[in-house]
Amino acid sequence: MASTVPTLTLNNQTEIPQLGFGLYLVPPEKTEETVSKALEVGYRHIDTAEMYGNEEEAGAAIAASGLPREEIFVTSKLGNGAHRPDDARRAFDDTLRRLGVDQIDLFLIHWPLPTLYDGDYVSTWRTLTEFVDDGRARAVGVSNFQPEHLDRIVSETGIVPAVNQIEVHPYFGNEDARAATHAVGAVVEAWSPIAQGQILDDEAIGAIATAHGKTPSQVTLRWHLERGDIVFPKSMHEERMRENFDLFDFNLSPDEIAIIDALDRGSAGRIGPNPDTFDYLP
Ligand code: NDP
Repeated sequence: MASTVPTLTLNNQTEIPQLGFGLYLVPPEKTEETVSKALEVGYRHIDTAEMYGNEEEAGAAIAASGLPREEIFVTSKLGNGAHRPDDARRAFDDTLRRLGVDQIDLFLIHWPLPTLYDGDYVSTWRTLTEFVDDGRARAVGVSNFQPEHLDRIVSETGIVPAVNQIEVHPYFGNEDARAATHAVGAVVEAWSPIAQGQILDDEAIGAIATAHGKTPSQVTLRWHLERGDIVFPKSMHEERMRENFDLFDFNLSPDEIAIIDALDRGSAGRIGPNPDTFDYLP
């Protein structure tokens, strides 16, 4: 199936499909089947992580698809337990091995963990940049970085991450972190783009959906795309995978975008952990 998904150009000229497919909470025993379906539907961008425990099964689906490797954009993330440079190098080797690839498209620090590792996420960031230098990652970036974390890695290393993957959805616009990401020259990847389903019953979004003959999920994903962010909704249901992929035959008006922007509840709208305090170690 020909892809209608636009690509964005990251700051090192790597092209990334703006719409992908997320694998958080996809159990390993369901992952190969789920990713195979997503690839059949047309997704060509897969977002996984060491901590999701399904890299190996995602890699198996990619291999079984018969698609040329360069047609699928693959992202994974460093586990929270592996921030020290030698651990990060080993963890990256393991991620490539589990995915069954020689090169990954994008590799991220999953969480900054500012209260762990003596507050040192800078040496972790410097270590990830080695993987671009040695050709095993096309791009590297960060996830859940707050403005001060971004500023610090950029000022101390001079190297700008390609993306910052952060929680963003209509109830949590996360505008400070979005603005800081843009200010350093990186692209925002919006995680939990439909707030794990919480926006589906929203009245304002429902009214916009009805006006376009679309669903609340489609309207919300379209809102993200029109703001220039990258999204990768997760679903274990084929009909929802198709629904979330069918976003390219309508546009939202500036008024509709403003209505959705106004749903922002600030930090009260967060559904995930606060990166300033999150200190989960596997
Ligand atoms: P999403 O906002 O993508 O929502 C997923 C949930 O919504 C699932 O319960 C799914 O159910 C349901 N759903 C999906 N599509 C529809 C639809 N069309 N209609 C009704 N229900 C629907 O949440 P995620 O947290 O999964 O975020 C997306 C991705 O972002 C993750 O998979 C992961 O790749 C990434 N992420 C990254 C984080 C980070 O720290 N960097 C943190 C969290 C997520 P069902 O599966 O049953 O269809």
